[in-house]
Amino acid sequence: MITIDGSEGEGGGQILRNALALSLITGQPFRLVNIRGRRERPGLMRQHVTAIDAACQTGRAECEGVCIGASEIVFRPGRVEGGEYCFSIGTAGSTSLVLQTVLLPLMRAGSPSRLVLEGGTHNIWAPPFDFLDRCFLPALKRMGGKVGARLVRHGFHPRGGGRVEFEITPAPLHAVDCLSRGALLDMGASVLIAGLPRSIAEEEIRVARKHLEWPDDICSIRELPQDLGPGNILMLEARFEHVTEIVSGVGRLGVSARSIARTAAQRLAGYMATSAFAGPYLADQLILPLALAGGGSFTTVKPTQHTRTAADVISKFLDCTCRFDIREDGSHLVSIS
Ligand code: ATP
Repeated sequence: MITIDGSEGEGGGQILRNALALSLITGQPFRLVNIRGRRERPGLMRQHVTAIDAACQTGRAECEGVCIGASEIVFRPGRVEGGEYCFSIGTAGSTSLVLQTVLLPLMRAGSPSRLVLEGGTHNIWAPPFDFLDRCFLPALKRMGGKVGARLVRHGFHPRGGGRVEFEITPAPLHAVDCLSRGALLDMGASVLIAGLPRSIAEEEIRVARKHLEWPDDICSIRELPQDLGPGNILMLEARFEHVTEIVSGVGRLGVSARSIARTAAQRLAGYMATSAFAGPYLADQLILPLALAGGGSFTTVKPTQHTRTAADVISKFLDCTCRFDIREDGSHLVSIS
């Protein structure tokens, strides 16, 4: 049985999610020890338990040792079946991270699926729904993926209660080389705000605009119904011919709107200053689909620990090699073969 040490590399929940997806796809069981060993509060949290539950239900699998706080599990996959699934995290845990667990296995099932996920849709440390919809899923589409996404209701931490729906049509993925981002088509800043003063959103836009030197007419504020809040996210978007990047900053207690906007703007400016296809988050999310597609490559800013750890977990299940090379212009080339 494959044994994975969850404290290696990035040492977070992504090791678990990638291992679950790979196990469902390859049919190989695994034991995961030291789960989230590098996190301040290690072990399974609610959202990880939901991810395991989703993997068990979609893949007719069994998992030993699952409970909140658990540091070790053994997962035995069955056969992944398409169908209608609804998973509710029960807290504001990220729906996107549950999707990361079951999306690729369901894309290889024998029939289509409709997947409903309830929980957080715009969380810190996870892809906001907009990132999935406009950055990740279009990149997957380039490889042949057929996935429709719909946001029904926003969900913010700590209230949760968001709802997203995905239509997944199984389709084989093919290798692609995502080297160039193409011409810049448009840019924009948007703020979602619920149950909080509008002045927070205005400050975020003001600071982001100043840093990026963006005109007012590409910036917008959307006030959501009070009862969805409190919640606030700033999203800075740059749409290119071949890829879209969204850098986000989630509002949280104790951090000023100004600081959230400045950090997000600096990160987008950093991406814009390179020629890379993938930003740091898209990079760690592209490795697994490319490995399943049988290979391919992409350029990125600088491979993160998440990206390198994803490559390590993949190499335990699949006979594939991931190379990281620095290019002359300072961007990095990630090649999977
Ligand atoms: P933890 O172990 O702390 O619970 P986790 O389960 O939240 O960690 P991580 O291992 O940190 O998971 O992985 C988070 C995932 O979310 C990664 O795939 C990363 O690319 C993605 N992600 C995080 N922040 C963003 C963001 N702002 N935009 C897009 N994707 C993001």
